[in-house]
Amino acid sequence: MSMLINDDCINCAACAAECPESAIFIAQGNGQFYNYGFQPLSTEHYFILPEICNECADLDEVKCISVCPMDAIEINNNLI
Ligand code: SF4
Ligand code: SF4
Repeated sequence: MSMLINDDCINCAACAAECPESAIFIAQGNGQFYNYGFQPLSTEHYFILPEICNECADLDEVKCISVCPMDAIEINNNLI
């Protein structure tokens, strides 16, 4: 399980600012992203790396979903 950002994203960056794991990256990635050695998951909108996201397991809310003004973040049950 992980979170997935869909095409409703307007690239506002609110989710990335709130993510406690720094698991959310701007389209095509940034310097920090490339240092992890991952490939971009979207060239159009923000994306979440499932390898880093812990689903806010230690918190009482899912931060990215809570702050997204577009409801563009979904739970992706296809990912472990
Ligand atoms: S669920 Fe939590 S850890 Fe995962 S991307 Fe969203 S804010 Fe970050
Ligand atoms: S908060 Fe929502 S609209 Fe803003 S960048 Fe994140 S997913 Fe996109």
